[in-house]
Amino acid sequence: MANNIQAIRGMHDVLPDQTPFWQYAEQALRDVLSAYGYSEIRLPIVEKTELFKRSIGEVTDIVEKEMYTFEDRNGDSLTLRPEGTAGCLRACLEHGLLHNQVHRLWYYGPMYRHERPQKGRYRQFIQLGVETYGMSGPDIDAELILLMDRLWKKLGIRDKVRLQLNSLGTIAERLVYRETLVSYFQAHLEELDEDSLRRLETNPLRILDTKNPAMHQLVANAPELMAYLGAESLQHFNTLTATLNDLGISYEINTRLVRGLDYYSKTVFEWVTDELGSQGTVCAGGRYDGLIEQLGGKPNFAVGFAMGIERLLALMEVSGNIPQTRTVDVYMIRVGDAAEREGLRFAETIRNEVPGLKLQVNCGGGSFKSQFKKADKIGAGYAIILGDDEVSRGEVSIKSLRNGEEQQQTLSQVEAITFLQTL
Ligand code: ATP
Ligand code: MG
Repeated sequence: MANNIQAIRGMHDVLPDQTPFWQYAEQALRDVLSAYGYSEIRLPIVEKTELFKRSIGEVTDIVEKEMYTFEDRNGDSLTLRPEGTAGCLRACLEHGLLHNQVHRLWYYGPMYRHERPQKGRYRQFIQLGVETYGMSGPDIDAELILLMDRLWKKLGIRDKVRLQLNSLGTIAERLVYRETLVSYFQAHLEELDEDSLRRLETNPLRILDTKNPAMHQLVANAPELMAYLGAESLQHFNTLTATLNDLGISYEINTRLVRGLDYYSKTVFEWVTDELGSQGTVCAGGRYDGLIEQLGGKPNFAVGFAMGIERLLALMEVSGNIPQTRTVDVYMIRVGDAAEREGLRFAETIRNEVPGLKLQVNCGGGSFKSQFKKADKIGAGYAIILGDDEVSRGEVSIKSLRNGEEQQQTLSQVEAITFLQTL
């Protein structure tokens, strides 16, 4: 064992007994996104390091200490994507998708951050990202919230998550607020931790996002950004909350919500839960109009969110909402040379005639008894049995493997197909 190579810490395999659970959630995500007319975009996992530095911000947790950055063989600095927003926007700008167009996009896949692994926090994790371009909102902000609300309902976890909302205003508004905030923290220097002292110089708003419980009281008493918003930002926010009120979607206004990334403006939101300990944010996002120009585009509008799928699944598990899915409906038992040959052929006929049926054929031989054991183990509902006797008569036997249904029936192949079509 000592020589076996193991997976990288914080990067997990999803074993076959778990994949049906993932697939169920993934299908629900796709169904909901398609109900709102969103299109999938597929993006590279590796991008130039510069892209993330320029977009996420030099003084963020991600860029300062979480990125997997390496030099490739040409000496270029590349990074495994820590999030998808930057790459998505890079692709849209590169391919001219933002000229007088509106887009509603989603992507799904692994992200990489060198964090301390713990429950709900991994070094490779899966995100669903949703990004929309070209809409000034707040109607599209509300649509995104509706979409997420629908997804929680579909997955049976609506009562486990709460929506928190804030507005970060414009860059100009934040600059004014920043001065007030810096004075406040300067008056409490002795209460700041090391990270926050550093951030006081570089990015004081980020102090509000601290995960250090010792600083929560200090942050709770800090001046609120909401009081520094101008008329347009306030109207955006008030229209959004009025729309949510209209639609019966409840929310909490959290004036400390600043998000861990630099590129947001106006609307920001998080869906949080109390069920997953300190990794309580399942989904987070907001408006990031300014990022488009920052990456070289013309002024435009953008709003989106990212959802952590491991946390989503953990929440479904807490709710006891794990779908029961069967990998195999019918297991084919073949004993004898003729039965082995005929079985493979007949299995193909069944697959042609009974679409959707999950049929697994026993491979590797074995007695009737050992093959029945395998059928049981895999959880099949029925066994189709072919021995050389059956084959010589052109028949098969079908046996239910569910408790209490013991009888076995012998049918012609045509009758067997008719039977399987009714399952
Ligand atoms: P956190 O505050 O938990 O570190 P974040 O602000 O860094 O989260 P985002 O960059 O907004 O997170 O990512 C969106 C979502 O992706 C999070 O709400 C979470 O569900 C998920 N996520 C982020 N980092 C991780 C991780 N290391 N492992 C698992 N899921 C993650
Ligand atoms: Mg983080």
